[in-house]
Amino acid sequence: MTKTIIFKFGGASVKDADALKNMANILRNRLRRNVVIVVSAMGKMTNLLEVILNLKLEKTDYSLSCDIFKSYHIDICKALFPKNHRIFPVLENQFILLEKKLEGELSSENYDEFYDDIVSFGELISSKIVMEFLCLEGLIVLWQDAREIITTNNDYRFAKIDWEKTKKNCQSDLKPRLEKFPVVTQGFIGGNESGKTTTLGREGSDFTAAILGTCLNASSVTIWKDVPGVLNADPKRFSETVLFNELDYKQAAEMTYYGASVIHPKTIKPLANEGIPLFVKSFLHPDLSGTKICSIDSFTPIPTFVLKENQVLVSFKVTDFTFIEENHIHRVYDELRRLKLRVNMLQISAISISLVMDIQPFNFKKLLERLRSEFEIRYNEGLELLTIIHPGKESLSSQLEGFEILLEQSTRNTVQIVRRGKSSKSSHN
Ligand code: ASP
Ligand code: MG
Repeated sequence: MTKTIIFKFGGASVKDADALKNMANILRNRLRRNVVIVVSAMGKMTNLLEVILNLKLEKTDYSLSCDIFKSYHIDICKALFPKNHRIFPVLENQFILLEKKLEGELSSENYDEFYDDIVSFGELISSKIVMEFLCLEGLIVLWQDAREIITTNNDYRFAKIDWEKTKKNCQSDLKPRLEKFPVVTQGFIGGNESGKTTTLGREGSDFTAAILGTCLNASSVTIWKDVPGVLNADPKRFSETVLFNELDYKQAAEMTYYGASVIHPKTIKPLANEGIPLFVKSFLHPDLSGTKICSIDSFTPIPTFVLKENQVLVSFKVTDFTFIEENHIHRVYDELRRLKLRVNMLQISAISISLVMDIQPFNFKKLLERLRSEFEIRYNEGLELLTIIHPGKESLSSQLEGFEILLEQSTRNTVQIVRRGKSSKSSHN
């Protein structure tokens, strides 16, 4: 029996009509039974749905953004399908459903649940278009609603996988279908016990591919990207990057932990546990081998740069001439957990706790409000967090030049720097 393989196509690989044609070309020689195709929302459609949600939350007219969302998909379909194709009524249906849902009550109380219900439309619509287009191209594939397979808890926006149930669904529902045809499904979304839609965290489609790979005992998972594979730095920000032909699971996991966006951080662990190789390949040069992530005994470390932009550095200072104690740390972390804010770097001194986080305007404000009475709070926005794994002396000094350094932390293998470009300035109390 042929083993299952998983292909994941992200937003950039389905961003327009040409991208979809390219995807069909990649699949033409690779498609067979027991292939699962996981797709993300097209282009930047998840961001646009977030914009719509925020406009609604602010009680501002969102109809213009809704029109952009609709015409983006309709234009792609017009370029791919004949006029009278059934995809057009399918789209119409989805848009009506989306608008109906958007009319519901939204407040900061039900935001997370409402969010999942709305942003899932990006993946649902994208996967329907992909399925119909592949069929039109003579590549017969089935469509699967991921919410019926990926079972999660109720932690909306950051739902946790119920591995046992998901595995059971994979084996009893998905596998029999896969034995007949390849299947297209959505990344990023799942369903809870009460049948509601959940999501796994932004950029979570890679994780979906890993979950399905694990639960179907796949022989490999491949992520198709707009880069040649995993590089030692983001080519958009660094010159002279090096491609890893092979990476150990641990190395890859470490890079994603520090924020390398090439793979979602949760992707590696389930695959490493089962020893399933993960390939990262270019959808522009599909015949090149890209990067293979697997178990490697020994490797030569090369300096690896991970840059996170839009960071905020916030410090909580005790006000009563005491020192930082465990209970202060607990207080801060309790609120962070409640607000689902993740810390990228932490430094504790005698009288203050400093945290570096991604900017999340809505919940960040709440954090400040909730802790204002207990600490003196200062923060700096518009910063970058640079992590260098295996830094050499040269690579470090060139990264400090021309920047204002706000915080630095180093261990034997890793240096982290919070820095600000000379042009941007902003500091708040
Ligand atoms: N469409 C979702 C996002 O943009 C999930 C993904 O792309 O992996 O976050
Ligand atoms: Mg995406």
